[in-house]
Amino acid sequence: MSNSGAPLVGIFGGTFDPIHYGHLRIAEEIVKTVGLQKLYFVPAGMPRLRHSPVASPQHRVEIVRLAIQKNPDFVLDEREINRGGVSYSIDTVREFKQEFGEEIRLCFVLGADAFINLPEWKNWKELFNLFHFIVSTRPGYTLTLIKELLSKELREECSQRWVSNTESLRKDTSGLIFIASTTMLDISATSIRAHIADGRSVRHLVPSVTVNYISENKLYL
Ligand code: ATP
Repeated sequence: MSNSGAPLVGIFGGTFDPIHYGHLRIAEEIVKTVGLQKLYFVPAGMPRLRHSPVASPQHRVEIVRLAIQKNPDFVLDEREINRGGVSYSIDTVREFKQEFGEEIRLCFVLGADAFINLPEWKNWKELFNLFHFIVSTRPGYTLTLIKELLSKELREECSQRWVSNTESLRKDTSGLIFIASTTMLDISATSIRAHIADGRSVRHLVPSVTVNYISENKLYL
């Protein structure tokens, strides 16, 4: 099915424990490069594939809200937190799809480190019927390395899906993969939490509103 010029909306899922400039910078660049109408930040309730978040869902939501509040392209979506329990992207995206209808193309934004683990996601092959993937480069996962790091199974599934221009994303309904060559910022939530636990500053790794919120609420100590 094709429909040239369909609007693109992005979904950016993550634990955001806490959100940092690595997230915000790739989000900013992807919105502009891909031409997303909006990018929805969806903090996970309980992620299935990793350890439990350190901060409570309410704190993580509040930190995201503060960090994105001045950017009109960014929207906070609390559905995974409100749903409670383990978060599955497939459930979240099905809901978005129902709300937006067929005229919108959904793009799921994620880092390359997350993308190479796709076969561990619930009903992963079905995801290609629901949205396009926008995969961001990340230190250790450069443009040339990403494809080499894929398992045989994932490489085969992806082989006919790579696109190098964003126009294709507007034409096809779903199932394409675009690698966004974003600025490499070697920042992770793990390193931010470690900095705070060690009493080191995280200024300029996260927005100043986030720094203030974290210290006022004594998070990650
Ligand atoms: P943690 O260190 O706790 O594992 P994280 O920093 O990877 O967390 P997440 O909330 O798990 O942050 O990430 C959400 C999404 O953002 C994932 O798809 C991840 O790959 C991506 N991402 C996180 N940090 C970066 C970064 N610095 N550059 C590019 N992508 C990133």
